[in-house]
Amino acid sequence: MVQFLIPPPPPTVLAVAGGGLFAVRRVFAVAQNYAAHAREMGGDPDRQPPFFFTKPADAVTSADSIPYPPATKRLDYEGELVVALAHGGADIAVADALSHVFGYAVGCDLTRRDLQAEARQSGRPWDMAKGFDASAVCGALQPVGIIGHPLQNAITLDVNGVRRQDGNTNQMIWSVAEIIAELSRYVTLATGDVIYSGTPAGIGALERGDVVEMAIADVGSHRFTMV
Ligand code: MN
Repeated sequence: MVQFLIPPPPPTVLAVAGGGLFAVRRVFAVAQNYAAHAREMGGDPDRQPPFFFTKPADAVTSADSIPYPPATKRLDYEGELVVALAHGGADIAVADALSHVFGYAVGCDLTRRDLQAEARQSGRPWDMAKGFDASAVCGALQPVGIIGHPLQNAITLDVNGVRRQDGNTNQMIWSVAEIIAELSRYVTLATGDVIYSGTPAGIGALERGDVVEMAIADVGSHRFTMV
């Protein structure tokens, strides 16, 4: 029997509403999937389709205190609908895509906006702007069997009680089904993969002490404090 000299790390897990845990395999994210946000980032949603980036699986956290990361002077929130997959596959058809979903959560794609701006300007990767420790905040998963698919649901993010983002999941450029189908053309998706589906307009900076509360109708809410 083979012995691990270095044992595998414990899985990153998300709580499932109603009980149980979901082990996270990989984290994908969609950039500029809401037209108004694409415009506020200087993009043109009519000319550039959304695109993907990744975060490490262990960047996912449901902690209620999130450490302000090092090496940035501009940390932004991005409230997002998170899609968690029960089943994977390659070249998944749009019509079949939603049957792969285990459930949904509210999430925050934390972003070192200053490092992202430098990366964009110099044509370098986004990893250190997007994939740092605790950069993928995520609330409890709501199984599809209980809430269905939140495809026309209000999505909001408040900072210290002030509404900063106020969108609807029906404003996505790529729908959840289209995201899964498109992503499965690039990678073979698998059980445990989670996808951050993009943020509506209204992004902004966070400081230590800020309290962030995200909510999506039917999916629930999740709150954290920057420390
Ligand atoms: Mn995002």
